Amino acid sequence: MNEIRPWRTIERRQSRQIMLGSVPVGGDAPITVQTMTNTATEDIGATIDQIRRCEDAGADIIRVSCPTEESTRDFDQITSAANVPIVADIHFHYKRALEAADKGAACLRINPGNIGSSERVAEVVRAAKANGCAIRIGVNAGSLEKHLLEKYGEPCPEALVESALDHIKLLQDHDFHEFKVAVKASDVFLAVAAYHGLAETVDCPLHLGITEAGGLIGGTVKSSIGLGSLLWAGIGDTIRVSLSAEPEEEVRVGFEILKALGLRTRGVRVVSCPSCARQGFDVIRTVQALEERLQHIKTPLSLSVLGCVVNGPGEARETDIGLTGGGNGKHMVYLSGMKDHHIDDGAMLDHIVKLVEDKAAQIEADMTDAGDAEAVAAE
Ligand code: SF4
Repeated sequence: MNEIRPWRTIERRQSRQIMLGSVPVGGDAPITVQTMTNTATEDIGATIDQIRRCEDAGADIIRVSCPTEESTRDFDQITSAANVPIVADIHFHYKRALEAADKGAACLRINPGNIGSSERVAEVVRAAKANGCAIRIGVNAGSLEKHLLEKYGEPCPEALVESALDHIKLLQDHDFHEFKVAVKASDVFLAVAAYHGLAETVDCPLHLGITEAGGLIGGTVKSSIGLGSLLWAGIGDTIRVSLSAEPEEEVRVGFEILKALGLRTRGVRVVSCPSCARQGFDVIRTVQALEERLQHIKTPLSLSVLGCVVNGPGEARETDIGLTGGGNGKHMVYLSGMKDHHIDDGAMLDHIVKLVEDKAAQIEADMTDAGDAEAVAAE
């Protein structure tokens, strides 16, 4: 058999790094996960509550729409309450961009070619520079400029890339370089081809998304194919999974995509079987309950939950904690890949949750000790 090429490496495209507040995007920074609030921005309390839930789910960056003057009036309350950088989403009204920049937005999502005169672009750039704001250009196949649709006949990768380059040029003409770019489409082939084209042409960080991807299951599949393909090719510095689902779900799906490719680690990576007649316990209900109860764990660790000994021991060997179904309501628990003890059906759930929590605490403590030791060695 011919030698198989290295099969677990992703070589990331070398992009320029920009900062969104204190969060780096691009270069060798971790690929960040974004989402967007869907509360009325004017409802400050509801928006901050949703931001908090997204932060708890792990969002690195959160976008908030600014469609009206009222939405930016108290925008500073939102940006100061958030623990992550806030991106102000602006369409049509460039004044909202000026207001959001003044009120603490870390980034403006605005297409400079769509806001009218060069003076307006200059004003937005001035506000961004004065407030240390980045800009995200967001080209979307659904709202391509008329002249590009006429030129190309339909949304195509070349049209998306040309639109992005036009917007980029406007910022560069104003000596502004703290930008990242998205070329989104709901068609996976179109989006992926456009991102490849853009990645070959520019060095700025790329914000990936398959827009209007659909509901939780369909949208997750579509995003996983589109974003997964790009990330696997090394393209992408920050991602947003667009789902007709709660923003926290977008964050969870985003992390799962990155975790599957080994690009981020966060929380419990669950390995579980689909179950069959051989299962020693109700695998599906158990995994559902464990995923729910272990959402608060941020420390990366792995847990295998398999219904029987066909594949249970093999998977348990590769995970931090393993559970394999046995007969008579007694199941085997593996710790660090080794058989450790039996657990009864009724006590199983609480027991595994406790084991995972203890393991996470131990990993955290070890990491703190290692950090302390490194600090001492450095002194
Ligand atoms: S591990 Fe066992 S219970 Fe699970 S699917 Fe395989 S054979 Fe069935």
